[in-house]
Amino acid sequence: MRFTEMDKKQTKVQVVVRVRPPLDPVDTICANALSHSVEIFNHRNIKETIKYDFAAVYNSESTQQMIYNDAVKPLLLQSIQGQNISIFAYGPTGAGKTHTMLGSPSDPGIITRVINGLFQSIEADSRLQSTQEWNYSVSFSYLEIYNEKVHDLLEPKNSDLPIREDGDKNIFVPGLTDKTINNFDEFKALFVPASNNRTTAATKLNDRSSRSHSILLLKVKKTGLRPPHREFHGKIYLIDLAGSEDNRRTGNKGIRLKESGAINKSLFVLGEVVDAINNGLPRIPYRNSKLTRLLQDSIGGSCHSVMITNIAPEQKYYYDTYCTLNFASKSK
Ligand code: ADP
Ligand code: MG
Repeated sequence: MRFTEMDKKQTKVQVVVRVRPPLDPVDTICANALSHSVEIFNHRNIKETIKYDFAAVYNSESTQQMIYNDAVKPLLLQSIQGQNISIFAYGPTGAGKTHTMLGSPSDPGIITRVINGLFQSIEADSRLQSTQEWNYSVSFSYLEIYNEKVHDLLEPKNSDLPIREDGDKNIFVPGLTDKTINNFDEFKALFVPASNNRTTAATKLNDRSSRSHSILLLKVKKTGLRPPHREFHGKIYLIDLAGSEDNRRTGNKGIRLKESGAINKSLFVLGEVVDAINNGLPRIPYRNSKLTRLLQDSIGGSCHSVMITNIAPEQKYYYDTYCTLNFASKSK
């Protein structure tokens, strides 16, 4: 990303909350979404109600379209102008992170909407010019961070890749596959098979639980066709984070426990980074985890970031919900 004198101001990471609908109507509910706050109550100790305030709270009736329009769409034009953007889904396993980011074919999430929206924004941007003055290109990479190691999901033989920084403070991953796409169908043809390369494993809490951070990186390049051939490079990170649940309770042992340690470490550091950015601290500990090191040029500075905190409303998730909201409200 190229910093200009104008955009040296620090932009805060926006923290919003999404409460998914109850999956089983007979379950007891412990979370209640209001427009700018969430209330939680523990049925074992009914008197104790805790209220958390946020910039925005999406309740169980909020649609994918609504969340995309509100929290994500306004940022796309900025990426065409060379700004970096990162959107995260945070929360425990089962709370709706993958639904929010990926969704389903009948109810697509942020990823599908961003790709379609990006091509539309490019169309709109090019129409603003009276003559054809700019060339646009979009490419993507798809990777995961698992046990503090970076793996290429488009080319699984590229595992344990390094993270580097160039002279302009751009972060890059040498050897990571980068595919040019001209429309959503080209993206889908490459992305769907790569999704199957994701590392998933059973835990006691859930049949399939994501133990890794799944990271989609879109790169947008706008190049002037006439001298001085100005170039704008924007990045959009769309991240489905590993589950934030407390792994002491999932009964994880051995390798699972080691993974848990790594997952908790990078989520912990992410929290510290967001804290430092939002409170204007002079030192931001990007280098303390792979995830935050990778995101160093795309969170903080003049970048725009949104953390969508997903929570589940059922009583059995109470403790995870409580921890997740504490994390999110500390970071906001
Ligand atoms: P996570 O990725 O955080 O583990 P998922 O996205 O897999 O959680 O969601 C768990 C379950 O809840 C899935 O069956 C998913 O389809 C469903 N779900 C999550 N959020 C919503 C929502 N907003 N509306 C309807 N179903 C949802
Ligand atoms: Mg998931």
